[in-house]
Amino acid sequence: MKSNQSNIKKAKRYLDRNECIAVPTETVYGLAGNAYSDSSVKKIFKLKKRPTNNPLIVHYHNLKGLKEDCIINEDFKKLYNKFSPGPITYVLKLTKNSKISKFVTNNKNTVAVRFPKHPLLRRLLKILNYPLAAPSANIFSKLSSVQPSDVKEEFGNKLKYILKGGRCSIGVESTIVNLTNNISILRLGGLNISKIKKIIKKKILIKNKTKNKISPGLFSIHYSPGIPLRMNVKKPKKGEAFVLIKKRKISSKNYFFLSKNNNLIKAAKNLYPLMRKIKNKGYKKIAFEKIPNIGIGLTINDRLERASKY
Ligand code: AMP
Ligand code: MG
Repeated sequence: MKSNQSNIKKAKRYLDRNECIAVPTETVYGLAGNAYSDSSVKKIFKLKKRPTNNPLIVHYHNLKGLKEDCIINEDFKKLYNKFSPGPITYVLKLTKNSKISKFVTNNKNTVAVRFPKHPLLRRLLKILNYPLAAPSANIFSKLSSVQPSDVKEEFGNKLKYILKGGRCSIGVESTIVNLTNNISILRLGGLNISKIKKIIKKKILIKNKTKNKISPGLFSIHYSPGIPLRMNVKKPKKGEAFVLIKKRKISSKNYFFLSKNNNLIKAAKNLYPLMRKIKNKGYKKIAFEKIPNIGIGLTINDRLERASKY
């Protein structure tokens, strides 16, 4: 506890100086900076090598801070009460007096916002005088980071500080919901859309395809381990690492398991670190067996589809 307290204070000192640092969240690690500071936000884009037209998510501690920057509505209130803090991101309209840097939103009049659940990050957000803009802590288009060692691997010495908060409990990014006109899902993520549908009892469109221009970050190649990847494979080819959803009796050294017993939640948590491990072992190709397209399996398949465009 004590060391956490001093680490949180250290993180605050960096952020107050408009530096960016890595922070833990329950989804994936974030590369965070003061969302009200142009210079801080510009540093995030530069470090990540992220195109400036791909807007960032802004992280708040509570509603009070959010209301100064965004206009909320009935759908937001319902979802917020049920799922925040947690792995859901809302796209809302900006208020006239919003202090969010225009570099966060790429000059749009909407912004993506989230209330992360990780206790360490919540304690940090509570003592800051500004919300944190934070995309995933990885180089653009590469695998997201779910533990401090991943962040280190991505940025090396270029990143000044990592607030260490262990392994991310969910391991895939947040689900993004657009609430600015007809409600729609812009990115599949850690919160199952069936749960959202139960709360919002109206039609919800899923607009997570690349050709959709509402969410500019939905590039076709994304979440890539940097080697070719095939999905729905029954038998691997020579030299391919083979990833299976559950442990098998018959195994070989190129077989890797996402979970012991077909557990999709564990599989999601293991997805990025397992791909990182396979890449680091020197494999040049990777094949995945068919992952059930239900629950968080939908999110896993979404990520694999994008990674397979490599
Ligand atoms: P990341 O920071 O990598 O988790 O990606 C955040 C994603 O949120 C972006 O790639 C966009 O797809 C989405 N996003 C952020 N801001 C907006 C916005 N104002 N409107 C629509 N989508 C957004
Ligand atoms: Mg990302």
